[in-house]
Amino acid sequence: MHVLVVEDDAVLADGLARVLGGHGMLVEVVGNGSQADALLQRGAAAEVLVLDIGLPGIDGFEVVRRLRARASAIPILLLTARDAIEDRVRAELGADDYLVKPFATAELVARIRALARRHGPKPSLLALGALTLDTAAKRARVGERVIELSAREWAVLEYLLQHAARVVSKQQIIDAILPWGDDLTLNAVEVYISRVRLKIADAGVSIRTIRGFGYMLEQNADHA
Ligand code: CA
Repeated sequence: MHVLVVEDDAVLADGLARVLGGHGMLVEVVGNGSQADALLQRGAAAEVLVLDIGLPGIDGFEVVRRLRARASAIPILLLTARDAIEDRVRAELGADDYLVKPFATAELVARIRALARRHGPKPSLLALGALTLDTAAKRARVGERVIELSAREWAVLEYLLQHAARVVSKQQIIDAILPWGDDLTLNAVEVYISRVRLKIADAGVSIRTIRGFGYMLEQNADHA
């Protein structure tokens, strides 16, 4: 994990680099706000930004403001001075978390990991039985065979797969695929379901009808 630390206190910065490095993180340290801003503008590869507020050049708040103005979503952990209540309040604007100095390094490591987890890439492969959906490539397969799905069939199947082995109502399915805009009747959902059923017939999974409520995608007993 690549972490960018912006801290002007050289002793603290060195200590942080050593501790985080010892936890397997790749650490880059910058000692002032303007330098950090320039680096981030060039698209620094950091996955998490640890940012002191009191910095020479521009301060931590300004670094955050410029980052978010560029629509960067990089998770930010602010480091604030002890008892700086106002800082704590302002830290909540644009930053994801903050730590008050002095802090335990174990706490810092835990917070950084939590931020990286929360902001990391979502798993792009959904699978059940022989059925796999690669949500990044928008490709569905049964075994090695690629199956063709319309946009709505895809959305229905993706939703069922995300909720595999749980009952979902027709209305939940409609809500999940409504980004296309126009009205969708409960009957339309039945049509999509029956088309999807045909296309995944040999995948070792079934879309069970739960009468009066909705559907459940589950693995067939003989494939479990
Ligand atoms: Ca400082």
